[in-house]
Amino acid sequence: MRLEDFAEDDRRHLIPQAGGELEYRCLSCDARYGIDELLYTCPHCGQVLLIEDRAFDRLKERGGAHWRRVFDLRRMLNLPGLKGIFRYQELVAPVIPLDSVLYLGEGHTPLVEATASLRELVGVPFHFKNDGQNPSASFKDRGMAVALSYINYLIQHRGAGRVLSICASTGDTSASAALYAAYLAPRVASAVLLPQGKVTPQQLSQPLGSGAAVFEIPGVFDDCMKVVEYLAEHYQVALLNSKNAWRIRGQESYAYEIAQDLDYDLQDLVVLVPIGNAGNISAVMAGFLKLYQLEIITHLPKIMGVQSSHADPVFRYYQAPPEKRRWQPVTVQPSVAQAAMIGNPVSMPRVMELARRYEETAGRAAFFVVQVSEQEIMDNMIQANRHGHIVCTQGGESLAGLRRALELGLVGREERAILDATAHHLKFIGFQQMYFEDRFPPEMEVRPRPELVNHPQTVSPLPADELPAPGRPLQGQAFQRFVEATAREIARRLELEQRP
Ligand SMILES: *Cc1c(COP(=O)(O)O)cnc(C)c1O
Ligand SMILES: [Zn+2]
Repeated sequence: MRLEDFAEDDRRHLIPQAGGELEYRCLSCDARYGIDELLYTCPHCGQVLLIEDRAFDRLKERGGAHWRRVFDLRRMLNLPGLKGIFRYQELVAPVIPLDSVLYLGEGHTPLVEATASLRELVGVPFHFKNDGQNPSASFKDRGMAVALSYINYLIQHRGAGRVLSICASTGDTSASAALYAAYLAPRVASAVLLPQGKVTPQQLSQPLGSGAAVFEIPGVFDDCMKVVEYLAEHYQVALLNSKNAWRIRGQESYAYEIAQDLDYDLQDLVVLVPIGNAGNISAVMAGFLKLYQLEIITHLPKIMGVQSSHADPVFRYYQAPPEKRRWQPVTVQPSVAQAAMIGNPVSMPRVMELARRYEETAGRAAFFVVQVSEQEIMDNMIQANRHGHIVCTQGGESLAGLRRALELGLVGREERAILDATAHHLKFIGFQQMYFEDRFPPEMEVRPRPELVNHPQTVSPLPADELPAPGRPLQGQAFQRFVEATAREIARRLELEQRP
């Protein structure tokens, strides 16, 4: 619909106005800083920041029903700037005017329901929310759309010069950063740092294709991150890791979409999120809390983090009783959930603060972290995809986490779950191949379950000189013979019945 086609009363609210009073807040010393400068850590104490809206209460005055109506009507409005996550502009980044918003097709990813047969295997109804259906094929695009829209705003309206964006990545951050930066070329250029050999070929190809400067660094992600932090501290660059609090704002949209797609009824809901650097789970909690404060929703869902036993510092922290918790980074082991293979998550202080606020509001049982094995991650990824899903290893981790939570009684049979399928299956296809070919190195501790293995079958029913080959097509009777012999062989293997 066009704006003119809406009722006069609604029209006034459909186009968001630039507003709000955003500021960075330090999670340790509570210092506040203006957003005109790009800050990543507190200049005073070095801690990570969150972006908060000093004027948030103005949104409360309108009431939950108002916001539900505005968001639902915007769904019908054909305006590119509001097609993506800026549908929730007032919650995401109200200071960014619509003419600075980048829209590359991110957000509004589908909730895909588990079929009856898969639900029966697992024990509760659930949906995957397919964030692999974002433009660079992972949820990272949500945060990147906001971070780069903000940079675009600084260039368009604040006289910022040419920007070099930079990030460290387990693969998907760099793919996303390079894509969004490329859209703003030549005013924005990007450089990405990857742990050598620790991202998949698909993920490596993405920033290369977007024209980024790609640097492969020895070590693991945590090592890359330190180099990027040093660069951001000493040089004029814009850091695009989730240390950048704008990313968190964008990723909150995941929570807004779940609420909207469930008609704002979140009773008996559990949301599962795989944890790596812990930016996403922080954003998801922050998003639901905002909806609750604005009375857009009346129930907070349970939030459940999932980690592999090969990279589980957040699980270990919350495993201890509250009075005994001590933060301790871990040394990671190789993991199929490679995008979450992080031993010292940058956003841990955010998790601590948001989980505390979440539990204060929704009760003790509202936030958990569970741990799963590499074997469970692989089995669950393949099993889900054999039932019509397109989940990556991290999506498999979400499903494995749901099963663990059911076993432990953390999720009850009367509840329903939404599992974050954080990236597209094809980005991590090598792990499926290793599973099918039983090629996992011993330290990965993954053995294929025979019933989940699949191989292509060669059909070659005639001597080589009677088969077609590239550049040597068959003709006439020879061609007919080949078609019939091949079809018969396939029919035999599939045990097909002949038509009467
Ligand atoms: C980045 C990423 C994660 C981990 O998210 P964090 O915000 O770092 O916790 C999980 N899955 C995929 C596919 C990712 O790209
Ligand atoms: Zn501080």
